[in-house]
Amino acid sequence: MDFMIRTWISLVALSFAAPLSAQEGPDDGVNADMILALKGLQLLDHRLNAIGYRLVDANAPYCDEKAARTGLLLNDVAQYVDQETARFALGFDGSIGITAVAPDSPAELAKLSPGDTLLAINTMPVGEIATDDPELSNQQPVYRRVAAINQLLEQALAEDKVELTISQGGISRTVAIGSVMTCPSQFQIRVSADRSASADGKLVSVTSRLAEYFLSDDEFAAVVAHELAHNLLKHRDRLDAEGVNRGFFGQFGNSAEKIKDSEIEADRLSVWLMANAGYDPQAAIGFWTRYGKEHGKGILSASTHYRWKKRVQLFEEEIAEMEAIRPVDGKYAPPLLAKTD
Ligand SMILES: [Zn+2]
Repeated sequence: MDFMIRTWISLVALSFAAPLSAQEGPDDGVNADMILALKGLQLLDHRLNAIGYRLVDANAPYCDEKAARTGLLLNDVAQYVDQETARFALGFDGSIGITAVAPDSPAELAKLSPGDTLLAINTMPVGEIATDDPELSNQQPVYRRVAAINQLLEQALAEDKVELTISQGGISRTVAIGSVMTCPSQFQIRVSADRSASADGKLVSVTSRLAEYFLSDDEFAAVVAHELAHNLLKHRDRLDAEGVNRGFFGQFGNSAEKIKDSEIEADRLSVWLMANAGYDPQAAIGFWTRYGKEHGKGILSASTHYRWKKRVQLFEEEIAEMEAIRPVDGKYAPPLLAKTD
């Protein structure tokens, strides 16, 4: 909700992301441009997974709702038009594999690595995990399998350690993996030519085009923290409960005011989340200044999003307020997440 919510461009777009020359060339079964594009995408996945993990882990003490997390990022090759090339580029033996492992996570401790194929969770083959749970219905069909696996994994981990059956280069093994309790939210790179990011209450999405635009992990973290803040503050549920129109008509009147208020809250909370995870909150100022100068007001709806100069001023005030309090164990308790009971 940083930017106008846009229609989803599915990962099918990837097959068109390759230069025309590659698509028109002789079909030798190997699409070098596609492999490069997939590896580039995997790098963005890795960065987002690492940043998201750090943010939800470091801020866990301030989240009343928690989720069991391993630090693994899973990918389904069914998302790609050319599955054979995708499998080759990602190094998978099968259809579901690991694309990223967050640093200092239980997954790293368990020595899991990108390219490993996931075959089963506690002897349940991944192909047999049901994907018809109504809770998954808001997911795009191509993402439902991974969402179902994540859901099962989270439930199993909340009770105990889990055994994963992994295959690498055709050799399978079982690996015991633990978890840490963190703030909720999943993170996902969405292939799109638009620069945008969004939060649907559970999932933080950043487009590939925006992810490529960040100059540092601190800048990347500024946008992820803003979207995560929307989820932690349950903005989507709150706006829906208040009957706020998040669509085109939301740009006017009362809806616009409420959406703007939620944007201000997300900005305020974001700098606390960043600082607690060891990211430089000043990067929010640097990023939004650079972004604002380059994009002007073009992509932002004027009434629901306040202008970047005002945003920068708000970040400055919020950072000053945060730095005025005494950190405990190097962390600042965010007032917006303060327990009300
Ligand atoms: Zn927002």
